[in-house]
Amino acid sequence: MQTSNWGAVQGNAAPLFQQKNLSLYLHIPFCKSKCLYCDFASWANQDHWMADYVDALLSELDGWRAKLEGRTVQTVYIGGGTPTLLPINLLEKILYHIRKVAPLAPQAEITIEANPGTVTREKLTMLRQCGVNRLSIGAQAMEDRLLKGIGRIHTVAETCEAVALGRSCGIENINLDLMIGLPEQSGRDWFQTLEAAIALKPEHISAYTLIVEEGTPLYALVERGAVTPPDEDETIEMQRAAIDRLQSAGYARYEISNYALPDRECRHNLVYWLRGDYLGLGCAAHSMIDNVRFENPRSLQAYLRGTRAIRRVPLSREERMEETLMLSTRLIRGMDLNAYRREFGEDFVATHTKTLDRLLNMGLVEIHANHLYLTQKGLEVQNAVLVELLA
Ligand code: SF4
Repeated sequence: MQTSNWGAVQGNAAPLFQQKNLSLYLHIPFCKSKCLYCDFASWANQDHWMADYVDALLSELDGWRAKLEGRTVQTVYIGGGTPTLLPINLLEKILYHIRKVAPLAPQAEITIEANPGTVTREKLTMLRQCGVNRLSIGAQAMEDRLLKGIGRIHTVAETCEAVALGRSCGIENINLDLMIGLPEQSGRDWFQTLEAAIALKPEHISAYTLIVEEGTPLYALVERGAVTPPDEDETIEMQRAAIDRLQSAGYARYEISNYALPDRECRHNLVYWLRGDYLGLGCAAHSMIDNVRFENPRSLQAYLRGTRAIRRVPLSREERMEETLMLSTRLIRGMDLNAYRREFGEDFVATHTKTLDRLLNMGLVEIHANHLYLTQKGLEVQNAVLVELLA
């Protein structure tokens, strides 16, 4: 049974799918065990639902079949959770179905997230044969002590093995996810993680700063003083170290937390930052199509019962302007002022002259080649800069 605004989304067919390109996100909410910091929609010990879940996911995709006509799917991202925890037959079923239903571009980027403790040669071979051409490996840290401290199920050796296996199975585009600000992580630890990650020669590295979310076991540990994460200054130092070291190793920083070798930026994530259209399938998955946002229920059981698209929010012009500013200034190249003028009929510089003058004088933003971008100093206080610009 489908409920709430799903009908409204489908009923709103006229403005949907006017743009040609689309990205697909498929959420796989199963994990071997919960990491201590995790507040994502993912669950351990629910593997008995895997087959039903995959059927629900594929039938959700089928529901969009007619509306996918006229679109080209440029990127597919299978994330989670731990997609590589699914048995090989279910992974194969998903990929086969995507190929059958989604109008994939010949050069589509197809990424799967992999937890190093869950990949095998057999799985990676099948994934490559089914068209997966990008592997995003959740390395997080390159020290077993730190991995254990956040409840990861894998070791550093398994991360190295996952990269080697990926390579030997023909996957030429590999991302390593790393985390800054782990409990008991020193600057020296972070440098060691960076060096070990670079030594594996991935095409892409993400270095996100850990946010200790309320309600997670890690939050409780920090609250009672059992573990200590680095303070803000130490974290900023680690971010600076990442920028310098990765840059010297040939990785250009193209987004606040993302670095890539030439032409290896994550095309899927760029769609989010540039406000392209994407369709999210699975529990907790978000979508944005023709400036309408909607999301599936977070609960696995609700999703299995057939509930879809519980919130549908058509974005107003002001909201679109805000989003454009907030998302595009995450990118190092910044916000395209011509594109902004074309979309909103407004000259951003003219309407924000005073604030921009102040921020320019403070060295927080710059304008170059019709792009407004945050400087390194500005990116470190991005929220404060945005508050000024949005005021
Ligand atoms: S593997 Fe990822 S999704 Fe699963 S519990 Fe750990 S952080 Fe969360």
